[in-house]
Amino acid sequence: MASRCIIVKLRITSALLSMARQCKLLTNSLYHKLLSLPTGNNLHFNPRTICAASVDFSLIPREIPTAILRPSRPESSIPFTISARRCGHSIWGQAMASNGLVVDMTSLGHKWRDIIVLWSRMLGHYANVSGQQLWIDAWEKHGVAPVSWTDNLYLTVGGTLSSAGISGSTFRYGPQISNVYEMDVITENGDFLTCFPHKNPKLVYSALGGSGQFRITTRARIALGQASKRAKWVRLLYSDFLAFTKDQERLISHLESDQDEALDYVEGLLLMHQNSDSWMSFFSFSDHQRLMSLVTKNELLYCIEVAKYYDGRTRSTVDKELEIILKDLSHVPEFMFKKDVAYGDFVNRVQAKEMKLQGQGLWNVPQPWFNLFVPKSCIADFNLGVFKNIVLRKNITTGLVLIYPTNKNKWGDRMSTVIPDEDVFYKVGFLHSSGFGDWQEFDLQNKEVLRYLPPDYSTEREWMQQFGPKWSTFQESKALFNLKMLSSPGP
Ligand SMILES: Cc1cc2nc3c(=O)[nH]c(=O)nc-3n(C[C@H](O)[C@H](O)[C@H](O)COP(=O)(O)OP(=O)(O)OC[C@H]3O[C@@H](n4cnc5c(N)ncnc54)[C@H](O)[C@@H]3O)c2cc1C
Repeated sequence: MASRCIIVKLRITSALLSMARQCKLLTNSLYHKLLSLPTGNNLHFNPRTICAASVDFSLIPREIPTAILRPSRPESSIPFTISARRCGHSIWGQAMASNGLVVDMTSLGHKWRDIIVLWSRMLGHYANVSGQQLWIDAWEKHGVAPVSWTDNLYLTVGGTLSSAGISGSTFRYGPQISNVYEMDVITENGDFLTCFPHKNPKLVYSALGGSGQFRITTRARIALGQASKRAKWVRLLYSDFLAFTKDQERLISHLESDQDEALDYVEGLLLMHQNSDSWMSFFSFSDHQRLMSLVTKNELLYCIEVAKYYDGRTRSTVDKELEIILKDLSHVPEFMFKKDVAYGDFVNRVQAKEMKLQGQGLWNVPQPWFNLFVPKSCIADFNLGVFKNIVLRKNITTGLVLIYPTNKNKWGDRMSTVIPDEDVFYKVGFLHSSGFGDWQEFDLQNKEVLRYLPPDYSTEREWMQQFGPKWSTFQESKALFNLKMLSSPGP
């Protein structure tokens, strides 16, 4: 029934878009300009194509572009708003271009010739990957893997390098934007440049985490490591938030220097009765009842999720190492759960869940997701003010809620992404799914959470506060590389 509703909605939207386009074409001089460009043959005005590029993953904002460009090679200088897009996996319209041009990156190539794995004495393994490639493909065939993963691997290299690219591996290896050696980009002026941190550093650092505003990435050289064979995957449950964060912070403090004690992945989850569908499937059926009793008793539980990878060489030692790492943690006794899975199944674990939701018609629905970084010094207040006083009280959160810490020294401070100025800060993510009629309720909750964390982000002054010392650097980058405000107008 849900999927039928979506189809009907899409049909109506498509018809509306078509009408909108008809009207627009009569008046829109961009249409005529576009046709006069050498890109003319690769331009698409088909209502269905326009409709697909008018929404993103959240299915909430709608911005109608005039045309879709499917370049057959990297093209350049186009004098109107333009946004790169492949998966459309951004939220709140970042990959859209109202009355402008959306560049469909999919047309730029195929994975078999767009991922080249190389080795050098200085860099070890690395890969040259086209901007439109999916992270899953950067790993699949070659026995090597990006050192820093996202949870979802069906995101593009260009897409995550324009945000951050984070997951439970970030505490150890930094976000994906910290693991790039060089990039080929097309700037707003149509220049095609290769940039390294030592050549065009301003452009490379603006582009990394710059929401696509400073360039289109056509290629990136990314750091690779050896792909492991298997993963020990563990979840530990906490009823006490302080104990939970203390243990998480302890676990991320072991880095490469103490290899044996370093985990490969540390994340965390908020467990509640009403979002049990989002976390229960990890646990075996025989544990479900006692888990639900514990949740009912405490209302809120916190779960640390960790992984340690191993292969033939470390098979005989990994259990001992894990035991030492997890010894003396303050989780609820008897509530530690372990699994041993193939490395590929672990890094791509989210996909199986998404497929299931798709099958149930619960994926192509509005997704008012909300992600934020919270400084370590505020996380205990955040628990009281947000998890207990907003999320529990409102009782509408049914999706996954992520809470995990990361180390600031793994980020670098020259990139556009803005992070809290503390050695440790938390990523909190509310991955809400809603219906077409009630996403506003989740949006209101998101806004209430935001109000809890001053400053608000409506005025320029408040944004300046949020950016802190990075504001002037960001302004300088805008003046240098996005003066006409043409690239990724959404953000
Ligand atoms: C289901 C889902 C799971 C996610 N999981 C994670 C996660 O685990 N970790 C994480 O860090 N993030 C995650 N994200 C967020 C995601 O990384 C960002 O939204 C990312 O920008 C999406 O990339 P995309 O490939 O879908 O690009 P699109 O949505 O197509 O574009 C997103 C933005 O990137 C820009 N962009 C895209 N391609 C290029 C390019 N080649 N050059 C320049 N700019 C470009 C666009 O203009 C736009 O501003 C997730 C999002 C979703 C919807």
